[in-house]
Amino acid sequence: MRALLLYRLDLTAGADGEEHIRAVDPREPIIRATDLGVTRGDGVFETAVVRRGAPQALEAHLDRFARSAALLELPAPRRELWRTTVRAAAEAVSRPGVLRAGELASVKFAMTRGDEIEPAGPTGWVLGFAGADPERVRRDGTTAVVLDRGYRHDVMQTAPWLLQGAKSLAYAVNEAALREARRRGADDVIFTSGDGFVLEGPRSTVIALLDGTLVTPPPELGVLPGTTQGDVFAGLADLTTLTATLSRDDLERADALWLCSSTRGAVPVRALDGAAVPIHHELTARMNAVLDARED
Ligand code: PLP
Repeated sequence: MRALLLYRLDLTAGADGEEHIRAVDPREPIIRATDLGVTRGDGVFETAVVRRGAPQALEAHLDRFARSAALLELPAPRRELWRTTVRAAAEAVSRPGVLRAGELASVKFAMTRGDEIEPAGPTGWVLGFAGADPERVRRDGTTAVVLDRGYRHDVMQTAPWLLQGAKSLAYAVNEAALREARRRGADDVIFTSGDGFVLEGPRSTVIALLDGTLVTPPPELGVLPGTTQGDVFAGLADLTTLTATLSRDDLERADALWLCSSTRGAVPVRALDGAAVPIHHELTARMNAVLDARED
C-alpha cells in the first residue's frame, strides 16, 4: 500500500464547505497522540475503490459510515462534506502518472471521537492510496480457515455495546485472526459465531453458492452489510440470491465460496481449512464485471 494524498477535514459544528477541507502531505502527522481514535480505536471508517476517476458505491459507503457512527454514538457525519471530499480524492488519485503499473487506487475515510484531553469535536480525514490490483487473486482464488469469533449469533441484540456490525477503527482482533490464518498456512478467515453460524471475513463478506442460490449471512448476526456483496446480488438479477443464515456444514457442501470486499471485488475461495473448494470461474468473472462497471 502506498499513500497518495491526504485531506484533513474540519468537523467543528457548522463547517461544511470546501474551505473546511485541507490537503496535506500524506506523511504529515495529523492525529494527536491523545486522539481517541489512536488511543482506543474509537472511531469509524470506510474504504471505497476508485475506478474511472470516481469512488465506487459511494452512497452505500456513506450509508454504512452513518450507521457505524450511530452505533458508536458519534455525531452524524455531514454527508455532503464527506461525499465532496471522497470524490475529490478519487479524482486526484486518478490523474495521469499517479498510479504505477499493477496498482489500483482506493480512498479510505475515517472519523474518530476526537481528542481526549481537549475535546473539540470529531477528527476526520480522507486518504487516497494505491493497493495491488486484485486481478490475480480474483483468478487464482484465496485460501481460508474457519475461526470462532466467540460471540453468539444474536450478539447485536443481546450486547450492542460490543459494536458487532459497526465498521469501527478497532480492527486489532481482525488482524490477529489473519495472523492466525497465516500460522495455519492460509491467507484469510471466515468467522463463525460461538453457536456455529457463518459470519464474515475480517475484511470481507461471505457469499456461498448452494444448490444454485447465492447466499450471504444477514447483518442481524453482527456482520457488516457489505457494499460489494450488495452490488453483486443487485447485478446478477437472473440468479436467485438470498440473505439467510449459513452453518459450517453449508460452507463445506457449498459449490463455490467468495470473499467480497471493495478493494478486491469477488475473490473465490479455493481451499477451506485445507480442503479444496471448486472455483466457479464464470460466475466469478460475471460478479467482477458487474462490480467493475459500477458508476455510483
Ligand atoms: N466485513 C468486514 C469486517 C469488512 O472489514 C469489510 C470491508 O472492509 C467487509 C465486510 C466488506 O465490505 P465492503 O464490501 O463494503 O468493502
